[in-house]
Amino acid sequence: MPDNGKTNLFDLDRTQLEDFFEHSLGEKRYRAHQVMKWIHHRYVTDFDGMTDLGKALRAKLEAHAQVRAPMVVFDKPSTDGTHKWLLGMDPKNAIETVYIPDKGRGTLCVSSQVGCALNCQFCSTATQGFNRNLSTAEIIGQVWVAARHLGNVPHQQRRLTNVVMMGMGEPLANFDNVVRAMSIMRDDLGYGLANKRVTLSTAGMVPMIDKLGEVSDVSLAVSLHAPNDELRSELVPLNKKYPIAELMESCVRYALRKRGTSVTFEYTLMKGVNDQPTHARQLVRLLRQFDNAVQMKDAAKVNLIPFNPFPGTRFERPDDAAIRAFQKLLNEAGMIAPVRRTRGDDIDAACGQLKGQVMDRTRRQAEFRKRLQAQGLDQGPGRGGEIGDAA
Ligand code: SAH
Repeated sequence: MPDNGKTNLFDLDRTQLEDFFEHSLGEKRYRAHQVMKWIHHRYVTDFDGMTDLGKALRAKLEAHAQVRAPMVVFDKPSTDGTHKWLLGMDPKNAIETVYIPDKGRGTLCVSSQVGCALNCQFCSTATQGFNRNLSTAEIIGQVWVAARHLGNVPHQQRRLTNVVMMGMGEPLANFDNVVRAMSIMRDDLGYGLANKRVTLSTAGMVPMIDKLGEVSDVSLAVSLHAPNDELRSELVPLNKKYPIAELMESCVRYALRKRGTSVTFEYTLMKGVNDQPTHARQLVRLLRQFDNAVQMKDAAKVNLIPFNPFPGTRFERPDDAAIRAFQKLLNEAGMIAPVRRTRGDDIDAACGQLKGQVMDRTRRQAEFRKRLQAQGLDQGPGRGGEIGDAA
């Protein structure tokens, strides 16, 4: 938002930028298209560098607008090609963004909030508590930083082919900014990603899943992690508000909006917690019900994620044999259930390991610290202080 009175153009999607040119600057709407290409295709943020705009227009832009990207506090490559950025959002808060290259594709895992308020028991972000929602500029800014680093050229040199809203935060709790940022990701003048290559993952905010269905066509992923309410309420406290039956119904509605839509259910496997044969059988039942309701085979896809550990957690990753046995039970029931390969774990960039710097507004971070100290695991004040110090 305009802190120095200037509008950050990263906050605006195409229509809003056209409106800005017409109503705030008294210019032609198509100017917005030129500016979007400079920003998202050529990574130019300085109006003077936008050479197909006249001098007078550039001066006007300079007076009323800015293109301000997040500050890279540090970035870290992993030995497996994964790359992680710590991005400063304001002087006290930072979030993480991760790039995961794979055969023929490059996926960026994007954060939606500073910390997370949901407190899922097995997620490292939860231990940091919550500060605030990210703005549209701060969300699309993550894509910009990564795309620029990768030398991505939309439609020509595609290094960035997929975005998953699976970083820090619950994207549906920051609905408007996330939807706007996703529209820039999918815009030809933005990053030109196909609808199905932008995935939003939610812990299950039922009313917001329906709202998403009204305005967007992105791929939906749901963090299920348990096949019955008793266990799920323990792992994902949001389940007490929106239990599994309601959650599955909203997923059915999402899938039914458009023929051929599938929904991905994420299932993090935790040793002795949710990895037993009874869990697999319950899961099969749930997914079959879903396929039947949508009247499409394989409408439900499962992603099995072996638990990624972090300091102080009470959960463990099952051994490979247990993971394979769980997968086999799903496969024998006719379900596609790939095990997600752990990537970037040498730089703490795997699912559930993202931690930025969160000036917590809840008490969770302090409580977790206390627990760590009791276990003799406290790592000291961490990256305390002003983020600029680390730059
Ligand atoms: N809040 C959203 C977005 C986060 S996505 C959501 O819950 O879907 C991150 C995914 O990684 C979620 O499926 C999350 O449940 C999973 N996850 C969290 N902690 C994990 C861990 N320690 N190991 C493996 N997966 C984890």
